[in-house]
Amino acid sequence: MKILTINCGSSSIKYKLYDFPTGKLLSKGIIERIGEENSTISSHTEGMQKVFSSLMESKVLENLDEIKAIGHRVVHGGEKFRYPQIINPEVMTMIEECAKLAPLHNPANLEGIKAVTSTLPKVKQVAVFDTAFHQTIPDYAYLYALPLEYYDKYRIRRYGFHGTSHQYVAIQASKILRKPLSKLKLITCHLGNGCSITAIDRGRSIDTSMGFTPLEGLIMGTRCGDIDVASVLYLMEKENLSIPCVDEILNKKSGLLGISRISNDVRVLKEEIKKGNKQARLALDMFIYRIKKYIGAYYFILGGVDAICFTAGIGENNPDIIRKISKSICKVSSKTKILVIPTDEEYIIASLTYRIVKREN
Ligand code: ADP
Repeated sequence: MKILTINCGSSSIKYKLYDFPTGKLLSKGIIERIGEENSTISSHTEGMQKVFSSLMESKVLENLDEIKAIGHRVVHGGEKFRYPQIINPEVMTMIEECAKLAPLHNPANLEGIKAVTSTLPKVKQVAVFDTAFHQTIPDYAYLYALPLEYYDKYRIRRYGFHGTSHQYVAIQASKILRKPLSKLKLITCHLGNGCSITAIDRGRSIDTSMGFTPLEGLIMGTRCGDIDVASVLYLMEKENLSIPCVDEILNKKSGLLGISRISNDVRVLKEEIKKGNKQARLALDMFIYRIKKYIGAYYFILGGVDAICFTAGIGENNPDIIRKISKSICKVSSKTKILVIPTDEEYIIASLTYRIVKREN
């Protein structure tokens, strides 16, 4: 059975075609600059048509009917979705509802779904949510200590993100350790441009560092992570900043970029450190320190950990950084394994889609 995954951004469509049950990757690609000035692709529907024609031209498909289902990455599923969903009008409405919580992502994800519907109206589509894996987090960990009415009114709470990546890495860890997930306590660290860390108790997420939005938690490429909210109010007052301005500072100008004043890219920072750049050193030291702090907290709430897993761009490619973090862990527990596991969010989206479609047939 051929399964296509779609990850639709505001101006891009990333796709991968798999064969199941083998799980073999048959083709992948990206359509960029959708709707931008001087671009030949004016809409997501046109972009999707390009995806399908590329698959046909490269001869991986003889006929579009061979695609039995399409799995979409959808960033926010709110509290409604704990599991992947077959897309129908009701699910579409709920994804639209959740766009209030993820205004940059959900509308683009919906565009992708609509674009498929207009091109291949009969194919089964499945939504796989970034937030779903974290829906097992208990209330004492997902609530913020604000007056409860704001949760009741606006659903302000921790949702967590990168769920498919944390879930994939946990499954891989269980294979590597040759132990069922139901017998494992894991900490998974997704360290890419966005960074998050999750405590996984017997296969269930029990806490994660990203919160109501992806801003909370670890220091990231351009996001500040945890911060005293009062300092933001103070800054707004002192610099007379509007909400969009402060949003841009916290999400786009902070983190590794903000501290180093050079780059959000760890590779660039490491080169600068070699040349003796103190700000680059400080940025990386802060980044590592915050990760250790979270690992310590999660180690304690889990009551010991079988393995700490690192993934994504930084986690997979920087043994020196992993070694620094691991050194502290080894001092506390010689039994905890350190694993580097390449993430594959599309693979898990495809396999969850396959599972749900197979069950339906
Ligand atoms: P995204 O979250 O956008 O998917 P990635 O997972 O690709 O991002 O992670 C981007 C980060 O990974 C950057 O800080 C970059 O420095 C780092 N990175 C990616 N590839 C390498 C590499 N080969 N060596 C060192 N760092 C890398």
